[in-house]
Amino acid sequence: MSDLLLRAYRGNYAIPAICVSNMESVLACFIAAEKAGSPVIIQSAYSEMNPQLITAGDLAGIVRTIGKRYQDIPYCIHLDHGMTQEECMMALEGGFLSIMYDGSGGSYEENVRVTKRLKDAAGPHRCVEAEVGRVGGEEGKGTNKENGIIKSDPEQLADFLAKTGADAIAVSIGNIHGCHGVIKQAPELDFALLQKLRDSCGVPLVLHGASGIPEEDIRKAVTMGISKVNYYTQLYHCYMGCVRKNIDLTMEECMGRATEALAEEIMKLMDMCGSVDRI
Ligand SMILES: [Zn+2]
Repeated sequence: MSDLLLRAYRGNYAIPAICVSNMESVLACFIAAEKAGSPVIIQSAYSEMNPQLITAGDLAGIVRTIGKRYQDIPYCIHLDHGMTQEECMMALEGGFLSIMYDGSGGSYEENVRVTKRLKDAAGPHRCVEAEVGRVGGEEGKGTNKENGIIKSDPEQLADFLAKTGADAIAVSIGNIHGCHGVIKQAPELDFALLQKLRDSCGVPLVLHGASGIPEEDIRKAVTMGISKVNYYTQLYHCYMGCVRKNIDLTMEECMGRATEALAEEIMKLMDMCGSVDRI
């Protein structure tokens, strides 16, 4: 993922990171990427894989198999929100080339320690994303993580990068996970803080919980150094809405239509991120 992100970082655009947990959602990522001429990050968290009874290795296999049909598409398979060192190691061993360790629920010192260990294990060619501050909201279900939000601190970010060598950082600048369920109004991004964070580090920054943030705010954040934008809630409202609408069709037709609807929605996100025609 590092290559894709660095290219986006230097080119002032972002790559949409799409949460997937089954074959249809993986397929939708590739269909959208081909139509839009966009790179794509295909990601999943254990909290999404477990209910689908799919392992990290299975999912990596599905992505690679479908990816063979789309040889011109630059993509990466990424673990979203690994909550422990063990989860992250399992994903690396299962064939993920990129992981996020989410140490935002514990102490800063522990976050530094585990991120550093994972970066050492991942080596220079695999990517480690970490979180400084706490985005909060409905992520990491089934863990002890508090839902409270802590905005990222620029000085702490510089210290964190020097100590860990992390490749990308998830920032907390007013964004929140699963915003539709947790709060009812659109999250407001703190652009002054984003500028300071950008100035205090030289790595790509990641915006989690982008669903529900107004389009113009996403576009502005992308021009200010956000290089990866994570989407879940908004996409799956669209996907499940389409499934419900076509529930009386055959399974194949119903899932086919939902895949197409999801691909259309992902293309809109690619446009918002400025990643169209960047292949
Ligand atoms: Zn997240």
